Amino acid sequence: MVERYDVLIVGAGHGGAQAALMLRQQKFAGTIALLGDEPEPPYERPPLSKEYLSGEKTFERILIRPATFWAEREVALLLDRRVVSVDPAAHAVVLADGSSIGYGTLIWATGGSPRRLSCPGHDLVGVHGVRTRADVDRMMGELDGVTNVVVIGGGYIGLEAAAVLTKFGKTVTVLEALDRVLARVAGEPLSRFYEAEHRAHGVDVRLGAKVDGLVGFQSVGEDEPARVTGVHMSDGEVLPAEMVIVGIGIVPAVEPLLEAGAEGGNGVLVDAQCRTSLPDIFAIGDCAAHANDFARGATIRLESVQNANDQATLVAKTIMGAADPYHAVPWFWSNQYDLRLQTVGLSTGFDAAIVRGEPASRSFSVVYLREGKVIALDCVNATKDYVQGRALVLGGLAPPPASLADPAIPLKSLAA
Ligand code: FAD
Repeated sequence: MVERYDVLIVGAGHGGAQAALMLRQQKFAGTIALLGDEPEPPYERPPLSKEYLSGEKTFERILIRPATFWAEREVALLLDRRVVSVDPAAHAVVLADGSSIGYGTLIWATGGSPRRLSCPGHDLVGVHGVRTRADVDRMMGELDGVTNVVVIGGGYIGLEAAAVLTKFGKTVTVLEALDRVLARVAGEPLSRFYEAEHRAHGVDVRLGAKVDGLVGFQSVGEDEPARVTGVHMSDGEVLPAEMVIVGIGIVPAVEPLLEAGAEGGNGVLVDAQCRTSLPDIFAIGDCAAHANDFARGATIRLESVQNANDQATLVAKTIMGAADPYHAVPWFWSNQYDLRLQTVGLSTGFDAAIVRGEPASRSFSVVYLREGKVIALDCVNATKDYVQGRALVLGGLAPPPASLADPAIPLKSLAA
């Protein structure tokens, strides 16, 4: 008989785990399976470039729930298994080993895989993406023999890894193709602040950097694959690197759904209840392209724990009969050195950025406006602004810019 579950969740990461948790919390009485291609039970991904990489947290401490929890809640954990195709008419998925699993409802929560370089040398040993525990364990296993690390991509993950590796005493270079770090996610004041912080910690931050290829070394007469030794820049310079970390975004893992006929492209398209265009199939988290109220209705994918958890919660409630549309305020965080960045709202499309407080004090916020209304805040070591600013974003409020710029005026007084 074919294995079958009332709800089959594909992807045992943040969104998948939360969907299973919420279904049980909402008293869903049917069978649930949480299937994923990694060997570990669901774990938190953010610490991979922070406390897990630095050794401050063990793997057990980053598990979303203790390993025994899932069986106690009657959630079948099907680990180390990969879905390769979906048959929406038969309500079944096919796994890499050729077996099938049937479902009543399918929740697709597969995240994405790190975008790879396409230049020569991209597959040399010592070149790493940062997405899974296995990626980071592999990196950590090589660190002893490494002096020079080149990080390609000045986004959050690359900068967080750079901060940890600098603490380990490595010589770190960050290569960013654009003219500032964090260019896709933050305004210029924040980018310049982080650029200066990394430089002050000894990181060689290079902007407008163009990589031609990676160079490697193969020991004569040995069977070992070639290892990376350097990064070849387009101006001819070769930067020494025994390790290269590639942090240039992800490719959403939606191929099986698109092949089955789901609408989408960069992610799978979902409606306000996270339904795909295929019957009884939802999609959530990093792989779900949705119209977001905080992006003025634009169709976007959000790569954050908040979005994965909130969409999972929404789907669990939808399965239980509720019909609220997705309307969750985006939030995010990043830890680098002793700096805790907390972001609320989405700054894309801002037409003014107000700096609140003094960046030199290492505690300040950037308030983003569009047509006078607050759309987002980036708060560095400024949790009060982050907490109080949420109401400004949620309400689309338009306080006087001079008041927003004055750290002596609490943001909550501007939301009144
Ligand atoms: P994931 O958590 O990635 O889970 C997807 C799972 O599905 C994976 O295990 C994947 O291997 C599996 N899978 C994929 N395809 C298949 C298939 N065909 N069959 C079976 N299984 C499959 N967000 C924040 O908000 N704050 C942070 O500070 C932060 N830091 C981050 C640091 C790092 C290093 C990384 C990688 C991410 C970080 N994020 C952060 C982003 C956050 O982790 C993601 O947004 C979140 O994990 C998305 O959850 P998800 O369920 O969509 O995908």
